[in-house]
Amino acid sequence: MSKLAFLGGKPVRTNIFPQSNTIGEEEKRAVMRVLDSGNLSQYVGSWNPDFMGGPMVKQFEKDWAHAFGVEYCMAVNSNTSGLNACIGACDIGPGDEVIVSPYTMTAGAIAPLIYGAVPVFADIDEDTFCLDPKKVEEKITPRTKAILVVHITGHPTDMDEIMMIARKHNLKVIEDCAQSPMASYKGRLVGTIGDVGIFSLNYHKHIHTGEGGMIVTNDAVIAEKVQLIRNHGEAVVEGKKTKDLWNTYGFNYRMTEMEAAVGIEQLKKLPALLEQRIERAEFLSAALGKLPGIIPPTVKEGCKHVYYIQAFKFKKDIVGIQRNTFIDAMKAELPTMVLRESTPIIGCGFAPPLYLQPIYQQRLHKCSFNCPRYEGEVSYDKGLCPVTERMFFEEVFTHEYMRPSFSWDDLKDVTDAYYKVYENISDLKEFEAKKAVLA
Ligand SMILES: *Cc1c(COP(=O)(O)O)cnc(C)c1O
Repeated sequence: MSKLAFLGGKPVRTNIFPQSNTIGEEEKRAVMRVLDSGNLSQYVGSWNPDFMGGPMVKQFEKDWAHAFGVEYCMAVNSNTSGLNACIGACDIGPGDEVIVSPYTMTAGAIAPLIYGAVPVFADIDEDTFCLDPKKVEEKITPRTKAILVVHITGHPTDMDEIMMIARKHNLKVIEDCAQSPMASYKGRLVGTIGDVGIFSLNYHKHIHTGEGGMIVTNDAVIAEKVQLIRNHGEAVVEGKKTKDLWNTYGFNYRMTEMEAAVGIEQLKKLPALLEQRIERAEFLSAALGKLPGIIPPTVKEGCKHVYYIQAFKFKKDIVGIQRNTFIDAMKAELPTMVLRESTPIIGCGFAPPLYLQPIYQQRLHKCSFNCPRYEGEVSYDKGLCPVTERMFFEEVFTHEYMRPSFSWDDLKDVTDAYYKVYENISDLKEFEAKKAVLA
């Protein structure tokens, strides 16, 4: 048994892991065609044939709508912009509440604030880390207008129950699918189950255009409002003779022709990239699932998980050490970065529960929290979502070793590292005991 690198031994691997690069010749040629045309964007911010953008944007939207089986698709410049646009398009405003998840990327809770509404955090399901429908229902008040679900890590939220609650209380359902393109729930693609779904094309995601986002819906009213919000709606509504002006003032959320050209090629590659990810994730789940106290990701009956990241649970009472000690030991055995990326590909999961951020703790938003139209009393106290807090502070660890760029030899190093750390738990226990004495 060789000594752990964390305690001064030799690491399993020092060679940096390969970069995921989904961009190839097809994308290069597509971008060159756009550059040669000189037509890098064709949007016009008034009611005009080019109000909906140029040929690449329109083609990309058509392809995406076809792939997801929806009536309307709108390209935007990020998932964050898309979330903002969808909150606006659902007529949300001052005095309203939107139920959101605390266990996600920050943009998910900011979107309601942009329109002067208040984000209300509900707790997550401890197996999928998505919003727990029971906890969502407890948070509903007369002010609730929408539920913003996020299919976090790539696993679908329990959509039957969410939709039932939404119908009962007449709420809109917005799906943040940034981490879950082509994930499915009982045979339906996520993003197409609620009123509207948003995908990210940021370079961290399954496929990308550098920055970008896609919005899908079958609702003509939402589609039209998103189009107005995307492109200076206030300058367009008169020419367009729009009757419902609520929240139609706009931003510039437009995607360029180059990004759309890349996106058209990336979308074709998505199914194969997902397959490679799922294959690697399932291999790692099987291998690490043999280690007592390490629980591989749950895949619920009827669900397809697309593994944006692979989230394990760590049972410290079974393993005998703290999760963070385990992660530190793993980080010492393997390079934690891949080329040109600054974030480690193994860690303790997402950002801390969002409500603990200063913006909520100090109510740093002029309108939303102090709005005279707001009659509620939202809480952002520590302890608000105990499952989220336990997952973030104690139980979950995540890695991205299932990326398509990892070869089977790379994966062998990964499993060797996990097994090596596991076999040396007693040394880590000793380390923790010494640290405790010093503290
Ligand atoms: C990446 C991500 C976002 C933000 O997407 P951008 O396209 O970078 O704006 C939002 N929500 C979740 C869950 C994400 O993973």
